[in-house]
Amino acid sequence: MYIDCHCHLDFYEDEKIEQIVKRARKANVKIIVNNGVNRVKNRKVLEISERYLEVKAALGLYPIDALKMSDKQIKDELDFIRKNKDKIIAIGEVGMDLKESSELERQKKIFQKIIKLALELNKPLIVHSRKAEKEVIEILKKNKMKKVVMHCFNGNFKLIQRIVENGWKMTIPTNVKSSEHFQQVIARVPLENLLCETDSPFLHPDKLPDNEPANVIVSYEKIAFIKGLKLSEVEEKIERNFGGLFNAVIDSLK
Ligand SMILES: [Zn+2]
Repeated sequence: MYIDCHCHLDFYEDEKIEQIVKRARKANVKIIVNNGVNRVKNRKVLEISERYLEVKAALGLYPIDALKMSDKQIKDELDFIRKNKDKIIAIGEVGMDLKESSELERQKKIFQKIIKLALELNKPLIVHSRKAEKEVIEILKKNKMKKVVMHCFNGNFKLIQRIVENGWKMTIPTNVKSSEHFQQVIARVPLENLLCETDSPFLHPDKLPDNEPANVIVSYEKIAFIKGLKLSEVEEKIERNFGGLFNAVIDSLK
């Protein structure tokens, strides 16, 4: 079976989500981790995972969305996540972004609050780190975070080495098809540290609009090709990696 470890199905209309989930089922994608990015989308994420067994919810605050909120609004949203802890498997998408904003200090403060919540709830974090890769690693390390998925990590190999040393996971997104960076990641990072994602509706393997979880197989195939493994071996290993973070989810499928 295949696992899409990070996507945003809530960006689609309900009717389209229905078709997307059907296609994922056909393609043997058995787990889809849907990530919330703000107040409205978090509610939508919960609603979708109530409709489809394979769509698992992660609630979060995207760094740029969080910057638009007051401290009180952020606190209320973190309380909402806490209240729904039994309905979610992870906290995401969260992190820092210094491409879209230069407000480093406030982003750090917000991310710190989110990390504290993840530790309290004992949930993995699904982390966005665009142009803030080093800062994100440092704050995670300082908090002794263990359950971390670095989503679409674009940092250099010195930083990637730190991810590996910390035993964190990195995702291979479907745009690996044309991304030399992620092809290099596959070649240099141990399989034990890898997971796969589509980031749907973004990062389509053929640079088209409307990516979807069924395409996650592109990442698996690329790993198999570059590492010289059978696709079934990659499937098994990725399932085991995912199970290391989300054992209850894997157990529920058995
Ligand atoms: Zn995302």
